[in-house]
Amino acid sequence: MEVVVSIQDIRERVKSFRENQLTVGFVPTMGALHEGHLSLVKKAKGENDKTVVSIFVNPLQFGKNEDFRQYPRTFDNDCELLSKEGVDIVFHPKASEMYPEGFCTLVIPEHLEDKLCGKLRPGHFRGVAVIVLKLFNLVKPDVAYFGQKDFQQTVIIKRIVSDLNLDVNISVLPTIRNKEGLALSSRNAYLSETEREGALCLYKALAKAQSTINAGIINTKEIVQEMEKIIRNCKSATIDYVSVVNPETLEEVPRVSSGDVATLAVRIGKTRLIDNIICVSTI
Ligand code: AMP
Repeated sequence: MEVVVSIQDIRERVKSFRENQLTVGFVPTMGALHEGHLSLVKKAKGENDKTVVSIFVNPLQFGKNEDFRQYPRTFDNDCELLSKEGVDIVFHPKASEMYPEGFCTLVIPEHLEDKLCGKLRPGHFRGVAVIVLKLFNLVKPDVAYFGQKDFQQTVIIKRIVSDLNLDVNISVLPTIRNKEGLALSSRNAYLSETEREGALCLYKALAKAQSTINAGIINTKEIVQEMEKIIRNCKSATIDYVSVVNPETLEEVPRVSSGDVATLAVRIGKTRLIDNIICVSTI
């Protein structure tokens, strides 16, 4: 496995893959890797000749008062994990090369960026849009792999690929959870033992959404109320939002049908966690 840092080097490596007609699978990450990330890597490995993983904590997608500085950075351990998976290249660029002085171009996913997480994290999805577009331009993947866990991100990326006619396939893979249902996240590292217990309310609320639908209730307001009741029972939890939305527009639906997404963001102590499920309805 090779660690590539410079833009020139990643371009050269990718060019040689292309010249040899090798397909490239790409997994963009911010590092602090866990089984959720590795599930994407395994899939990329299985479906492509070459696998590239980027590790870059993107300053552009963090708000002023967010956790850019504290965000866990475990580069050596990440490389060990990726090497075991048989990854070909880890792309680990420097912020100063990705965003040199004078950088000023925005990518604005209008109508999608100000919903759900975007309401509370203004500018976040512009930052995501810019970095993903830049990485796609550098790595030129055939397929890029993303986790359903960051649902709004997947919707926005698919939209950008379609709107800007990018020549890449987007593959969205299921959320990996621990035994108790907690979605794996690099930010789980911030949780104390008791907070980790409290964080289970996210999945419990999502499971409640599905069981409510199974019981024949498809009115979103009622479903959201049931979900919020569960979260309020957890002392350390504060709700940012709970919603059931259309998987393309991110608009809240009045009544739930299969494919709509129950999604939430909850702060456990100071740690903001997100999760979602794709709803199934037989009605
Ligand atoms: P991040 O490093 O948090 O930017 O995540 C990199 C990629 O891994 C994104 O596409 C995430 O959606 C995905 N990811 C993070 N956590 C999980 C998880 N628990 N299950 C599946 N994919 C995940």
